[in-house]
Amino acid sequence: MISRQTRSQSSLLSVVIPIHNEAQVIPALLNRLYRVAQDLPLPVELVFIDDGSTDDSVRLLLTEGSPAASIRVLKLSRNFGKEAAVSAGMEAAMGNAIVLMDADLQDPPELIPDMVAQWRRGADVVLMKRRSRKGETWLKRTTAALFYRLMNRISDASIPIDTGDFRLMSRRAVDAFLALPERNRYLKGMFAWVGMTTETLEFDRDPRAAGQTKWNYLKLMQLAVDGITSFSTKPLRLALFLGLASASAGGAFGLWEVLKVLVFGTTLPGYASLIAVITFLAGVQLLCVGLLGEYIGRIYLETKQRPVYLVAEELSAPSSRHQPVPLRVANHDQPL
Ligand code: UDP
Ligand code: MG
Repeated sequence: MISRQTRSQSSLLSVVIPIHNEAQVIPALLNRLYRVAQDLPLPVELVFIDDGSTDDSVRLLLTEGSPAASIRVLKLSRNFGKEAAVSAGMEAAMGNAIVLMDADLQDPPELIPDMVAQWRRGADVVLMKRRSRKGETWLKRTTAALFYRLMNRISDASIPIDTGDFRLMSRRAVDAFLALPERNRYLKGMFAWVGMTTETLEFDRDPRAAGQTKWNYLKLMQLAVDGITSFSTKPLRLALFLGLASASAGGAFGLWEVLKVLVFGTTLPGYASLIAVITFLAGVQLLCVGLLGEYIGRIYLETKQRPVYLVAEELSAPSSRHQPVPLRVANHDQPL
């Protein structure tokens, strides 16, 4: 492995893009990226991470070469999920600045020059904030908004509302991100945790250019649980309070029943209320046990110390305009 010290090059821009069955958008994506790269004043490498695609994606990436930018394709050994794929790409990228974007052209590549300009002015992180979310359903927008509000309430590093993974990061920010050792990689939370000098630009998010979204509500819910449990232990405290509250309510209720028997003799047989109380308490207990289980599961996964992803092979289609720049020893953190 190349040490972090030796792998920065002077003024190279890496664009990191995770790919999972994106054959339908790749020709358009490459086209637009090349057009942008041509006009940029610095060499560009495109780092694609093939996250276990089963379609033509990899072949398409390597056949559409251009002098505007060099192409590297990291083939992961299977589908590890977007979060792992992005970590792989950031680890492999050699640039002084790294732009992270989706393959589906929801994040327009034409904004990259503006992002680079902000970085040259000294920003470590250039966040892209969505002004609008075209092509997303009302349900997705509202649930997303609710989730971020909840996340920001309960976790310490607050995640900026309406920003996705589309962003530019300086070498310094990327190295800080890569130094976070956890296996469970909740990107938005980790990026927020890293912090650093941040500039925010607004943009209109386009609908997906072609192909299908890889998310469904189950996956999004899993991501939400990951997000909450990996960045906050407050739900554990909530479980404690819930348990306490329902136990005291149950106790008070029991006492009340006993008193009623003592004062009035007998009471009406109250099956309905009994069953309600029992199921409620059983529910609270299961909830708390499940919550504990989430955290214990997380501890288990972390202690196994497995790598976040496995690279099967690295392929490349070097650009003819920019010969590979020799590796330098100095670490150029500052924009040049
Ligand atoms: N992606 C990936 N691995 C996966 C799922 C998605 O690398 O298991 C990539 C996908 O190819 C795309 C990006 O992650 O570049 C975002 O996916 P998508 O557009 O489907 O998500 P959405 O924009 O709908 O949230
Ligand atoms: Mg998308």
